[in-house]
Amino acid sequence: MAEIILSLSDVTKIYGKGETEVIALKDIDLVFEQGEFAAVVGPSGSGKTTLLNIIGCLDSPTRGELSWRGAPMKSMNRTQLAAYRRTHVSFVFQSYNLIPVLTVAENVEMPLLIEGMHDRAAIRERALSIVEMVGLSDKANRYPTELSGGQEQRVAIARALVKKPSIVLADEPTANLDSHTAGEIIKLMREINEKTQTTFLFSTHDPRIMELAQRVITLRDGQIERDERGAP
Ligand code: ADP
Ligand code: MG
Repeated sequence: MAEIILSLSDVTKIYGKGETEVIALKDIDLVFEQGEFAAVVGPSGSGKTTLLNIIGCLDSPTRGELSWRGAPMKSMNRTQLAAYRRTHVSFVFQSYNLIPVLTVAENVEMPLLIEGMHDRAAIRERALSIVEMVGLSDKANRYPTELSGGQEQRVAIARALVKKPSIVLADEPTANLDSHTAGEIIKLMREINEKTQTTFLFSTHDPRIMELAQRVITLRDGQIERDERGAP
């Protein structure tokens, strides 16, 4: 068994109060091992985004506990939590969120600059190697507006990977893509997952994409309806 990196125990998220209260997640127990390739599925409003945001510390649970490599996040101070977000977790969004005035290579370099890396040559080299991994070497000096949606999402995946995170959280990364391109993007993530042992957790409601996952976690009304592991 691979190392357990992340665990959620009895995680509940309630938005609002009283009459307007919404239980977005209810008593979620989940464990993730390093190297997993898992999909979170479920209808709109079932809690997928809330779950990913809580795992990425963009949001905090109302009740319950998250642990990172056995350390309860509640016991971490702001600096430690910021370090967790900066070092271990990356996001990929449905709308790519690339910076339009930066080239592909510059977009991918961004997280390294934020991390405080100074060596320009090393930064460029690392970025270009990841750009190559997502199959866009010939587009390194192009701008996002010159790319297709699928290519933009490849850049976003490269940007997510450049700091070598433990886990990539992708919230409906293929929702704006046609089904063929969507399949290719998930296959690319799977390839990178196998090559680097980076853990991927992505949400989708496309049944064809679910089939490419190694584990499928089904949410319904904020609860886990099924958690199935298929072929590794
Ligand atoms: P999904 O991503 O599966 O569509 P979400 O996690 O976005 O589901 O939402 C789960 C539930 O929580 C929904 O009922 C949604 O309306 C509610 N919700 C999500 N974010 C907020 C918020 N910031 N304030 C109030 N309710 C929210
Ligand atoms: Mg969502």
